[in-house]
Amino acid sequence: MRVVIAGAGIGGLTTALGLHAAGIRDVTLAEAATDLRQLGVGLNILPHAAGVLGELHLLDRLTASCVQTRELLLCNRFGDLIWREPRGKYAGHDWPQLSVHRADLVAVLAQAVRERLGDEAIRLDSRVVHVDTDTGHVHLSHRGGRTTETDADVVVGADGIRSAVRAQLYPDEGQPSGNGLVMWRGTSVAEPFLTGRSMVVSGDDVHRVVTYPVRRFPDGKVLVNWVAARPADLETAVPEDALRYFGDWTFEWLDIPAILDAADDVRMYPMVDREPLPRWSFGRTTLLGDAAHAMYPMGSNGATQAILDAAELARVLAAGDAVESALAEYERARRPATTRLQASNRAHGPERVIALAHQRAPTGFDDIHDVISPDELAAVADDYAAVSGLDQRPFHPADR
Ligand SMILES: Cc1cc2nc3c(=O)[nH]c(=O)nc-3n(C[C@H](O)[C@H](O)[C@H](O)COP(=O)(O)OP(=O)(O)OC[C@H]3O[C@@H](n4cnc5c(N)ncnc54)[C@H](O)[C@@H]3O)c2cc1C
Repeated sequence: MRVVIAGAGIGGLTTALGLHAAGIRDVTLAEAATDLRQLGVGLNILPHAAGVLGELHLLDRLTASCVQTRELLLCNRFGDLIWREPRGKYAGHDWPQLSVHRADLVAVLAQAVRERLGDEAIRLDSRVVHVDTDTGHVHLSHRGGRTTETDADVVVGADGIRSAVRAQLYPDEGQPSGNGLVMWRGTSVAEPFLTGRSMVVSGDDVHRVVTYPVRRFPDGKVLVNWVAARPADLETAVPEDALRYFGDWTFEWLDIPAILDAADDVRMYPMVDREPLPRWSFGRTTLLGDAAHAMYPMGSNGATQAILDAAELARVLAAGDAVESALAEYERARRPATTRLQASNRAHGPERVIALAHQRAPTGFDDIHDVISPDELAAVADDYAAVSGLDQRPFHPADR
């Protein structure tokens, strides 16, 4: 079986490794970029997706460069604690939660693909422009206007939120839609905070700051990934002006303005997602990762779900059924689950308790249970864990 994957991002690379592990070796990744540049900042991989990487024997390499997340804290913009829970192995899961720089993750995945499938498996400067969904005939374009064609038994559109394969399947869809927020993102070298492995989401009714370390340095410092989200209608092109809003978000245990100030490359992104699709697979072609189900970045599910898609697609293709029925099985396993997550993330996922705390106590509180009951808090966290397929929660904060 020959598989052509559009996009050597996290989903595409993991799919190639999953196929290789399942015995399918004729795999080509067509990547539009001319190199797998060190773009992006941090992302999180939840334990069930870390398990997929573990079974691909990648965790040793990854954990050499990333941070095993120990806990998640949700708090208001004054640092008053709303929710604190252990994560990954610290919560009793079999696999860790990983906080990783996207560039480090892509580098580990790409190196493994080259070692296992050969240097030729990743074709850079190869943009998929058209797929014949019934025959698997793929048209590619390259720099300088050159075009080539190739054939596949299966074509996987893992080409991200602005997927060309998806645009071909759904030509009237247009651009990804936004929720009225923009995200300023950066990384900063800083002293570790809390456990040195803590992820903190702080906010008010609409503003959010997410901070977590993604690399540890020998001198004890860490590289902190941060995202500061705010309404697009307040927007300015100047990061210093935008970030001034967060200038007094200094807590006893976390100095957010200092972290934001320390970044040397700060970029703004709109917070966008895609509508859930009624169907991913047509003939020999299917969609995967953000191309299939781009969602707002809440609850650490962007890369996680792409990795879970990859594992499932490799499993069904290796089972040896006809391609159309294998793709139908993949879609049955993955589409309803990711559709629920897209909807949940539009309602702010687990972070909706932050807005709730702000509505009920805009100037802060001493004890969150005066503001939101323990049952209400646990219900939000449990609901989201179930929706993201991570509902193995051996204990609740109240048990500790
Ligand atoms: C450059 C970049 C930086 C990112 N930074 C972050 C980040 O800091 N934090 C975060 O949470 N998420 C980030 N993301 C998104 C995150 O990687 C995804 O949400 C998630 O990992 C799902 O992965 P994916 O493989 O579906 O998509 P992606 O990781 O987006 O990969 C898609 C790949 O397809 C390639 N591609 C696009 N069009 C074509 C085409 N027509 N033909 C062939 N190849 C094509 C792209 O160059 C890219 O390599 C980033 C994505 C990109 C592309």
